[in-house]
Amino acid sequence: MPWVDQNLCVGCGVCVDECPVEAITQQEDRKAIINDDQCIRCGKCHDVCPHDAVRHDSERIPQEVEVNVTKTRELLKHFKTPQEQDQFYERMIRYFNKEKKVADLTIAKITDMKNAISKGK
Ligand code: SF4
Ligand code: SF4
Repeated sequence: MPWVDQNLCVGCGVCVDECPVEAITQQEDRKAIINDDQCIRCGKCHDVCPHDAVRHDSERIPQEVEVNVTKTRELLKHFKTPQEQDQFYERMIRYFNKEKKVADLTIAKITDMKNAISKGK
């Protein structure tokens, strides 16, 4: 999923004009923002941005990990005893393991879809 680095965007609007599904809007300061729900992942905004402001999703990994860790810390406050806290940590680990499994299985299925297209060529 592409995203716009607000520090690099100069608000030129080139990406807005190129987006085929009008998923990009400009804020009051003219800087661009992508609507994740509307984006069809075509990559055009990344290709046309003259300032490299449209960034790859992978660059957000550290930030997203931090969000998860912060959320875990906040939820931990609801559990007082060491036993409750231990059980809570286990639940969070199970939750993120489930997320990992969903991602792995999704990747496997999408790869199968891609390979099926390649074979059909
Ligand atoms: S093309 Fe790049 S610099 Fe111009 S508005 Fe879009 S993201 Fe910002
Ligand atoms: S990837 Fe394509 S659909 Fe998504 S915001 Fe960029 S130009 Fe629009």
